[in-house]
Amino acid sequence: MKQPKAFASKIIDAIRADGGVLHLAGGEICLPRTFGFCRGVTSALVMLEEACQRHTDSTTRLFLLGQIIHNPWVNDHFSRRGVQILRPDQVRHPEAFITASDCAVIPAFGVPLDIEAHLQSIGCQIVDTSCGDVRRLWGWACRAASGGLGILIFGRSEHDETVVTKSRLAAAGGKYLVIGNLAEGRQFAEMVASDQPPQAFRERFGPATTNAESPQPFERLAQVSQTTMLYDHTMALRDILRSGFARRYGQEELNQRLLFEPTVCRATQDRQNAAVELCKAGCDLVVVVGGFGSSNTRHLYELAQAHAPTVFIEDAGAILSPSRLRALDTDQDRPVTVKNWLPRRRPLHIGVLAGASSPEIVVGQVVEKLAEFLR
Ligand code: SF4
Repeated sequence: MKQPKAFASKIIDAIRADGGVLHLAGGEICLPRTFGFCRGVTSALVMLEEACQRHTDSTTRLFLLGQIIHNPWVNDHFSRRGVQILRPDQVRHPEAFITASDCAVIPAFGVPLDIEAHLQSIGCQIVDTSCGDVRRLWGWACRAASGGLGILIFGRSEHDETVVTKSRLAAAGGKYLVIGNLAEGRQFAEMVASDQPPQAFRERFGPATTNAESPQPFERLAQVSQTTMLYDHTMALRDILRSGFARRYGQEELNQRLLFEPTVCRATQDRQNAAVELCKAGCDLVVVVGGFGSSNTRHLYELAQAHAPTVFIEDAGAILSPSRLRALDTDQDRPVTVKNWLPRRRPLHIGVLAGASSPEIVVGQVVEKLAEFLR
């Protein structure tokens, strides 16, 4: 499926055709072999674009239930086309906004079941762009929950996809626990291994991360991951859990007590592998381009940092000058001004990474701006 024209970039097409490298007098700008929009994002954008075209001259209002993907440029693009994007608090109350004569667009991460049921009950048009990989995750997790297993979700509790996964599990009568990082995974595994009481569980894990009152529902456990997590961390968490469960129940019970489904999607893995390959080839600087709310783009940033000085920017407007740039500080979770970000030596090798929600047009503008400094 081809991405809508509005998101394409001539310079990116040209660099791709030239083997992924832009050669300049002062160095090179390199792109990974796989980057940018994945199949799920492309499909969501094509569906929304088609809905916009269908309703250009009609009186039907188009409502998007949250961001279509985590990229401000893309969401602004659709706002300008007349799509009304509901905020998360508004998505919880679709009855206040959407009527039977409207068209409701479900974003790539999906919506909770009760909201979907409400839309169906009022009979409005529904365009469901939720990604097949996300739906497969829900299906597997809900089946495991029906089989009596507690579900451990490795992801960000407040991320749209995980919010929907939690709600679907709760609707299926399942118990879930969200683990955000490996340190939390170790704490939970230790809790299991040392058979800690419900109070310790409640003190450690609040209602934002679990709907269980004690670790008991997780004595038989199925682990899934938000589709955009780091694949290596997902595997590491599995080992941490196995070791905690082995200490408590013995090796022989592991396979009955622990199920694992590798739900990090193929597109995420491919982009992570390609990013590491590019960084390992040798970069003086890596520029990661994407929405600051994009989970998969944040993970590319984490990976790149292990190999080279790395900055994470949203678009070309963040590049203020060769000595000043607005980049995300992931510790503070806000943009900050970075000084002297561009090394002075020449030739300079710059790698540019882009997450599955980063439009090529924005990546292309960043490349053009960087190229000005290497002419
Ligand atoms: S990153 Fe994976 S799960 Fe998310 S939209 Fe793309 S293919 Fe689907």
